[in-house]
Order: sequence, then structure tokens, then C-alpha cells
Amino acid sequence: MAEQTQPSVKTPHLQDLGLPHHRPLVIVDVDEVLGLFMQGFGDFLADRGLEFRLDRFALFQNIYRPGEDQHLDLDEGKRHFDDFFRYGCGDMQLAPGGPDALRELSQVASVVILTNAPGQARLARARWLGRHGMDYPLLLNTGPKGPLAAGLAAQVSGPVAFVDDLLPNLNSVADHAPQVARFQHVADPRLRPLAPAEPDRHTRIDDWAELSRAIAAAIS
Ligand SMILES: [Mg+2]
Repeated sequence: MAEQTQPSVKTPHLQDLGLPHHRPLVIVDVDEVLGLFMQGFGDFLADRGLEFRLDRFALFQNIYRPGEDQHLDLDEGKRHFDDFFRYGCGDMQLAPGGPDALRELSQVASVVILTNAPGQARLARARWLGRHGMDYPLLLNTGPKGPLAAGLAAQVSGPVAFVDDLLPNLNSVADHAPQVARFQHVADPRLRPLAPAEPDRHTRIDDWAELSRAIAAAIS
């Protein structure tokens, strides 16, 4: 969920990820695409006696003490967010259908997981992915994802697809790598009506089975 403003990380070489240049590539986000981030973060906060209210598409502004009308101080919210990625993100529930879809797509394409998560999340996130059968190369990014997606796409001779829940990331990929097929997926049904979308610009599909077929068609 977090929108960050730091510059993106350097693009790795495909061969360093163990991936060939000739296969199509599918670049997939984690939070609210493969995992139910808001649910997981909300449960984590509840264990700390806090409430995560889903009344708008925001992050730190949605954290409250029970019974209070004013959200938590943003710096305090950020500390809980960082703690979640350090201690809690390994318990996140799966987005229904995500692992099966990636398994099918991996028959015809390389899969890379591209997540905007703080560095302390790498171990827990890699374990979570591996435990759920998604042991694909994992890249941690900060900031808009377009530059890194473009850097990966430039190394692939075949078609490339990109999946994310956040409009700024989809717009960034459209700006930096317009040839990449873009799909918006919002896993949590409660967030779907709140998530900003531009369906004329980025295909919006919230069901993984349908999304899998659309991605397969886009990269065939
Ligand atoms: Mg996300």
C-alpha cells in the first residue's frame, strides 16, 4: 500500500536471477495481489490493541486507538508498519487463486516477484512465498516500479506483463515501459470499491483465475 518517494533500486541482470532472455516475463506484486496485506496488517495491529479502519484507501491514516476519532500519529503508524514487515508479514493470508495462477503461468513464462517492502521484510517475505509454492526470484523495490520493470523488460525478447494493485505503480510502468501489458488486481474485496483505478489504461481484473487467462493471452 505504501507510496514511497525514494529512487528505485538498480535493475538486476536476468541471468543473476537464473532467468533466460527468450521467455516471456510476468512481474507480480505481493501485497493485495498475492497476499491479503490489509487483513494481515489489521490483525497485527489488533494484537497491539489498535484498529485498522477501512474507510478510505490509505495506510497510516487508517490506524486508530479504539474509540478515538483521530488517527494515530503518522510516525507511530510507520513504526507499526515497519514492525509488521519485520515480525508479522510471514503470517499473511493468501489471495485466493494466486499461487495456482503463477504455477500455470510459470509453464510458459518466467515469474518475478516485485514488492515494495522494507529491507527487513526480505527473509520473512521469501519464506512466506516459498511456503506457499511461490519460490520465484524476489526483488525488493522502493518508489514507483516503472524504472525497474522497464529494466527487466529491456532484457527480455518476449512479451512482458505486470500486475499490481496500486495505480501509481501501474502508471509508472506505463510511463517507463509502455510495451508491458498492465493488470490491476485488488485482492481484498473490501478494498476493491476504494482503490483508484483507470480501467481504460490498465486492465482491471480482481479474480485470479480470470486474470491468469488474461495474462496468458497477453504474453502468448
Ligand atoms: Mg501491492
